Amino acid sequence: MRSIRHGDTGPAVEEIRSILVDLELLETAGTEFDDATQTAVRAFQQGRGLGVDGIVGTETWAALDGARWKLGARTLFHSVPTFLVGEDVRTLQERLLEMGFDTGRADGLYGPRTARAVAQFQREVGLTPDGSCGPNTMKALRRLGRKVVGGRPNWLREAEAFRQSGSSLVGKTIVIDPGHGGPDDLGVVVPDGQLRWTEADLVFDIATRLEGRLAAAGMRVHLTRGPHPTQQMTGQERAALANSLGADLLISLHLDGQETPSADGVATYHYGTGNGVTSTVGERLANLVQREVVVRTGMQDCRIHAKTWELLRLTRMPAVRVDLGYLSSPVDRERLIDPLIREQIVEAILAAVQRMYFPVEADVPTGSIDVRQLRLALASRNA
Ligand SMILES: [Zn+2]
Repeated sequence: MRSIRHGDTGPAVEEIRSILVDLELLETAGTEFDDATQTAVRAFQQGRGLGVDGIVGTETWAALDGARWKLGARTLFHSVPTFLVGEDVRTLQERLLEMGFDTGRADGLYGPRTARAVAQFQREVGLTPDGSCGPNTMKALRRLGRKVVGGRPNWLREAEAFRQSGSSLVGKTIVIDPGHGGPDDLGVVVPDGQLRWTEADLVFDIATRLEGRLAAAGMRVHLTRGPHPTQQMTGQERAALANSLGADLLISLHLDGQETPSADGVATYHYGTGNGVTSTVGERLANLVQREVVVRTGMQDCRIHAKTWELLRLTRMPAVRVDLGYLSSPVDRERLIDPLIREQIVEAILAAVQRMYFPVEADVPTGSIDVRQLRLALASRNA
């Protein structure tokens, strides 16, 4: 089509202006491409990452045309080779992202990643996972709309619920999830003479030590698996277990491993898409766990990261996964096979959980917290 620009008049301009009015970028409809229309086109182009020239060429026209679609007005699917484009696709992507499905960037293009996210959503609500968004999928989205009012409000609710649950560990339910397990899933395995070290066994050992300490602090503690499960468990099954227990927190324990022995360090993961959708309580727990473990063990700080893994996405409570060093690194391995260091890791996680409930950052420095100090700090504050 011919480019439409400043000074043009006619039905095409009228159409462009009416779309811009619908998008609330322009105040009044009309048939003239005037200064206000040009400004609105530029604003539209800027918002869509298009070249900002104030002229409606082919690309801008396609984007404007797509902007007309309201979610639910047409069936959306992954068409090849030209993806469906539109405001409805963008709205759908944003809704899915907010609910924790990874569509990638909300770019308004119905690509394979969006189709995959739709299929995942369909599977979870019991629909045929065909990856296209028609009336039934829309109905499910609308039904959930009232319960899951967007990601941010959702996480705000999570934070509020956490705050209201009070500042005591007593009676809280925590699920400790030792990663892997089962005959076919030992996680990272490193041979050592006639023996071998496995991630599954080491994290199970840490989990049982932690279980004892948390229980002593008054928490109800559940492990997701025993020492030698007959079957391996998926992230989805682990999340479902924690949900069914109505857990207040979940901490998943893993070790990392790599070909290169030089990779080492601790990293903690919380739910988040990297698009600003994040579990704020989960992020806080991740920060605390990461800090305490690094300070107490001296392992390298590989920081915290947002992930959309099943275990983090499907759990309804703040959940984190901590990778407690690289079993493949001689430096980390030496620490991890030392029961005293594993005890320090347990201390660190315990302190992080305590800090979640007692905001004592200012009173007790990281790495030094113990129950006695905590009581003193609280007593002096309440005095
Ligand atoms: Zn693992």
